[in-house]
Amino acid sequence: MINKIINRALNGEDLRKNEVLDLFRVQSPEETLKIFETASEIRNSRKRSIKLTSTVHLTNACQVNPKCKYCGFAAKTSSEGYYHSFTKTEDEILMAAKAVEKAGIPRVSCSGAHGYHGRHAVQAAKIVKENTKLELLVNVGSDLTEKTIKQLADYQTDTVCCNLETVNKELFNHLKPGELLKDRLMVCKMVNEVGIELSSGLLIGIGESYLDRVNHLFLLKEFPTLGEIPIMGFNPYQDTPMENHPPCSLMEQMKTIAITRLMFNDLRITVPAPTIGPENVKFSLIAGANNVATVIPDGYPLDIKGVGSPTYGNMEEVTGTIKALGLDPEVREVPCHFKEMGISKI
Ligand code: SF4
Repeated sequence: MINKIINRALNGEDLRKNEVLDLFRVQSPEETLKIFETASEIRNSRKRSIKLTSTVHLTNACQVNPKCKYCGFAAKTSSEGYYHSFTKTEDEILMAAKAVEKAGIPRVSCSGAHGYHGRHAVQAAKIVKENTKLELLVNVGSDLTEKTIKQLADYQTDTVCCNLETVNKELFNHLKPGELLKDRLMVCKMVNEVGIELSSGLLIGIGESYLDRVNHLFLLKEFPTLGEIPIMGFNPYQDTPMENHPPCSLMEQMKTIAITRLMFNDLRITVPAPTIGPENVKFSLIAGANNVATVIPDGYPLDIKGVGSPTYGNMEEVTGTIKALGLDPEVREVPCHFKEMGISKI
């Protein structure tokens, strides 16, 4: 039944909404496997290398009130999370970024909570771009203004991430009572207008329907600078209002990754290690993802808890998983300035 859709995806044709919905509704193991194989084939036909993205968390002091119901990142939301409020100093941000670069990870995400109009993001962009050769993604949600987005562009920020989470307005308002979907959409629009690559993703397993996911993916198509889609499976963070909500199944995460790949052949499809679980990273790759986020090298100097769950991906383990699947982890040579310091081994 889905063969025609699969062939159209393999030919690089644009899938229609009803076709994408049909893919989500697939239940048979044979057809599900076919979707995964096609997604991998499309990814591999472009590039067999898998991007690694590390993380620096700038602050968990969040002014959004009430807090998002699933959030275990903001201060005092979860005993499993950071819990205590922190704001990283310039030196701490620099130290962490350098540790990432020294390990050969090519890309870092600097992310933080709301209430700073993007000034924290601009400070991080300045530090990372003036002191390292790392590719930089900034994610401070919708806590950005036109001015700070332009400043991020001035510092050569490669990507700005603003996840819509879900485009089902009722569900968004229920899960994020302190935020408005239109503010997130406005930030995505401004990022496009400034010409920076946009990353914008789906939080799944939160009560949305397949049609919500389809509508979400088609909405993202409307942003010309869209370059990345994170697919984030929900995990309950202890003590939060959603602590008893079931986690998103691995199968649903794989299916959503694979269908996204069938729709967006060339995009970076990101799976954060904390949301899928570090032990499941291989399944995201089997489903066609090509970027693993929250990858932390040994010797990383800061305490780290993932967004979505307290775990993270250890660099050595993630690169091992990628290689075991016959794919190539994108790991950079140690930069010259580290070699001059006598560091020659990654
Ligand atoms: S998810 Fe982000 S915006 Fe919402 S409460 Fe947590 S830190 Fe704040």
